Amino acid sequence: HQVPTITLNNGVEMPQLGFGVWQVPDDEAERAVATALEAGYRSIDTAAIYGNEGGTGRAIAASGLPREDIFVTTKLWNSEQGYDSTLRAFDASLAKLGLDYVDLYLIHWPLPAKDRYIDTYKAFEKLYADGRIRAIGVSNFLPEHLQRLISETSVVPAVNQIELHPHLQQEAARKDHAERGIATEAWSPLGQGKGLLEVPAIVAIAQKHGRTPAQVVLRWHLQLGTIVIPKSVTPSRIKENIEVFDFSLDDEDLAAIAALNEDRRLGPDPAAFDVE
Ligand code: NAD
Repeated sequence: HQVPTITLNNGVEMPQLGFGVWQVPDDEAERAVATALEAGYRSIDTAAIYGNEGGTGRAIAASGLPREDIFVTTKLWNSEQGYDSTLRAFDASLAKLGLDYVDLYLIHWPLPAKDRYIDTYKAFEKLYADGRIRAIGVSNFLPEHLQRLISETSVVPAVNQIELHPHLQQEAARKDHAERGIATEAWSPLGQGKGLLEVPAIVAIAQKHGRTPAQVVLRWHLQLGTIVIPKSVTPSRIKENIEVFDFSLDDEDLAAIAALNEDRRLGPDPAAFDVE
């Protein structure tokens, strides 16, 4: 599979489709990431809080692929926000991954009430300047958080990873990101598989193209121009989710999916979420 790349605002190329490992225990993550790399995925999305940086790193090492062929994202957990704690947390993540750099490091949540994301990001800027991260970014930042971050720091985030799927299409955030030169990355792109894949309009489009509902939803993301990181631990689904580069949705399909927006989150509201 030739997965297209998105050029980030610092020139780094990021595969537009990658593999997510949220809620996958460490051992299982090692197997799933190995399967994904065999299937042709070259971008892996993990996080310190997922507890599977170790398994992810072992699968990468065992793959025999050159390091520069794999795009690795991890995230700083909420409890570690702050300048010094971020530097320490980054070292711990790298050690677990068994790597000497990551491609993308994200602040997992803004935690606006804690007011530590500026200091946290300044540590990201230092790690970036030191060449230990190829691109720095954020996750779950609302436009108001991005505005403040950009006005108080030097490096515009390369990526904002946000919840995005046909029931939560995030039009305003996507427009805001585009204006700022920030790439939008969709988390829970399949709506966590809960109901979205049974929506009649999606099922009908899948039947029309001889594809699966998951492939239709992933194709919608790709045509929107966002980066996607679907998760599965089932080998057949891992393969199915990357077989999305040999068909396309037409205007009628895209209009039918656009009509499914409900502005409905599956995850927490980033303005209020403060779990450490
Ligand atoms: P997802 O939308 O990728 O859905 C995954 C679920 O959909 C699977 O567990 C399975 O039940 C189902 N599924 C997957 N492929 C399928 C197929 N081909 N056919 C039928 N069902 C299928 O959900 P996700 O795991 O929440 O999100 C993807 C990734 O996004 C995560 O693994 C993680 O890396 C990232 N993420 C980030 C944040 C954040 O706060 N930054 C939050 C949630 C997830």
